[in-house]
Amino acid sequence: GLTSEWARAWVIESVRVIAENRMELTALDRPIGDGDHGENMNRGFTAVMPKLDDLSDGTPADVFKLVAMTLISTVGGAAGPLYGTAYLKAAGAVAGRDELDGEAIVALYTAARDGIVLRGKAEVGEKTMIDAWTPAVDAATEAHAAGKTELAILLAAAEAAENGAVATEPLIARKGRASYLGERAIGHRDPGAQSSALLLRAAADVAD
Ligand code: ADP
Ligand code: MG
Ligand code: MG
Repeated sequence: GLTSEWARAWVIESVRVIAENRMELTALDRPIGDGDHGENMNRGFTAVMPKLDDLSDGTPADVFKLVAMTLISTVGGAAGPLYGTAYLKAAGAVAGRDELDGEAIVALYTAARDGIVLRGKAEVGEKTMIDAWTPAVDAATEAHAAGKTELAILLAAAEAAENGAVATEPLIARKGRASYLGERAIGHRDPGAQSSALLLRAAADVAD
């Protein structure tokens, strides 16, 4: 099973990939938003690092709860409360467990996605981070049902999220700032879907 060491490694890798891709995320947010998504995310994840060092022991849920609290208080904008809720619900789904098996990974991702929906009310096809998360949850569920390993479940989710982010390009946005643009949003990838795909890829990368 995946331990709190995995959860920590995922967070550390998330901090790294968000920093590495912050310019790209901000560039995606410029034509269909206000050009701050990369900076918002980088500010939030950078703030997690020192707190993670202070968290001595704990379960995966403790790690995710720490991330949730930090993102809620530092990211701001639309993405802060959405990602904050995602990590908070994810923590709740695996509370008290020291190790996460395939079923727990599915529960973790499902709870994260449901948290984003609870907060933002977006459906698939509305050009938001949900267009990465829901295919990821579906792929993870399918991989788990097929008896795949934990790593294979994480990899299936990551690939589905990446494809989902690409698939936002031809869409008109129905939620968030991009929804004010109507057809002018067509041809641009949603920044939140892209950051979600980066985070889900990071989860798989540190598991192998
Ligand atoms: P802001 O738009 O406040 O500047 P960010 O730029 O950090 O916030 O984040 C924008 C991203 O938030 C979008 O690309 C989209 O993926 C996501 N988003 C916005 N509104 C919603 C919503 N209601 N549901 C899900 N995701 C949303
Ligand atoms: Mg923005
Ligand atoms: Mg903003």
